[in-house]
Amino acid sequence: MSEAIKTDVLIIGAGPCGLFAVFELGLLDMKVHLVDILDKIGGQCAELYPEKPIYDIPGIPLVTGQGLTEALLEQIKPFNPTFHLNEMVESIEKIGDPGFRVTTDAGKVFECKVVVVSAGGGSFQPKRPPVPGIEAYENISVFYAVRKMEQFRDKEILIVGGGDSALDWTLNLHPLAKRITLLHRRDEFRAAPHSVEQMRKLVADGTMDLKIGQVTALEGADGKLTGAQLKGSDNTTSTISCDTMLPFFGLTMKLGPVANWGLHLENNLIPVETASFETNVPGIFAIGDINTYPGKLKLILSGFHEGALMSQKAHRYVYPDKRLVFQYTTSSSSLQKKLGVN
Ligand SMILES: Cc1cc2nc3c(=O)[nH]c(=O)nc-3n(C[C@H](O)[C@H](O)[C@H](O)COP(=O)(O)OP(=O)(O)OC[C@H]3O[C@@H](n4cnc5c(N)ncnc54)[C@H](O)[C@@H]3O)c2cc1C
Repeated sequence: MSEAIKTDVLIIGAGPCGLFAVFELGLLDMKVHLVDILDKIGGQCAELYPEKPIYDIPGIPLVTGQGLTEALLEQIKPFNPTFHLNEMVESIEKIGDPGFRVTTDAGKVFECKVVVVSAGGGSFQPKRPPVPGIEAYENISVFYAVRKMEQFRDKEILIVGGGDSALDWTLNLHPLAKRITLLHRRDEFRAAPHSVEQMRKLVADGTMDLKIGQVTALEGADGKLTGAQLKGSDNTTSTISCDTMLPFFGLTMKLGPVANWGLHLENNLIPVETASFETNVPGIFAIGDINTYPGKLKLILSGFHEGALMSQKAHRYVYPDKRLVFQYTTSSSSLQKKLGVN
């Protein structure tokens, strides 16, 4: 386990509500680290609908999911938050009053005064392909994400899927791998046409293989893969040699470890009171899609409001001796100084 990273506030989930909370906390002088299981910032907006328009962000008639993420990032720049992507928060332990030790699946440890859970519908997790016994190979020779490319140097890799992740990793790992085979159930790809074109060129050059079909069984022992049995679209069966398999079948949302943090849950949501959006554990707040209260609307604008009220109460935990004075950004020179505009 690594040495603890100390921060005022740890935000779990870098979706739009977690991002705007950085702004509200920053105005009140609280330093923030954010952890997200995704490899990108923006939660559902960036992962599920980056190019779709949103029409109900106050004051912005139209913005795409990705556009909103970028605008929020620009807005919170003055507060210099630290992002820890590709990591899932696994546990929260109480160490003070208030004070928490938060640990991720990568072994990173945070010590903070306040925890803000803005975990949306839960953690995005990869969909597992329907191959019997695949669990025994997971994290040994079957991986659902590429965290360090170097891990795959000189490997005989079978990449399964036809979307952007499958094609991007085919192209990125091609120079490192001993051999790459891309397998997709049909000879049509959802990925960006440019990536598909590049992949077809590598196949034509004979430096990688493309197979059409599905994996029906894995061969190997003790989690170490030696080959995969394939069923072709014409129902023929064959075996290919591989020591690594990377299936990219998309992501699904699961509540995940949120259920183990000692927080009350109602239908997989965290009940909060509506003055500060604090949970049943003092010092742990829940904002955005993950919380529930009478009249809750799962809208981004609700999460923004919740972040503002949460920050007022969080200030009491981080600065118990300081009085909070309400100020407008329009007229407060001290807030403008923090924003770097004065
Ligand atoms: C197709 C579509 C269209 C939509 N259109 C609109 C719209 O027009 N207007 C509107 O207001 N809303 C819209 N929404 C809803 C909106 O996207 C959500 O309300 C919003 O994303 C909620 O933000 P959030 O920050 O609470 O959570 P999310 O955006 O869900 O982000 C939560 C993040 O937490 C991370 N996480 C969860 N658990 C952990 C953990 N244990 N460790 C680390 N990270 C974790 C997840 O990976 C995720 O990135 C739409 C949603 C969809 C799917």
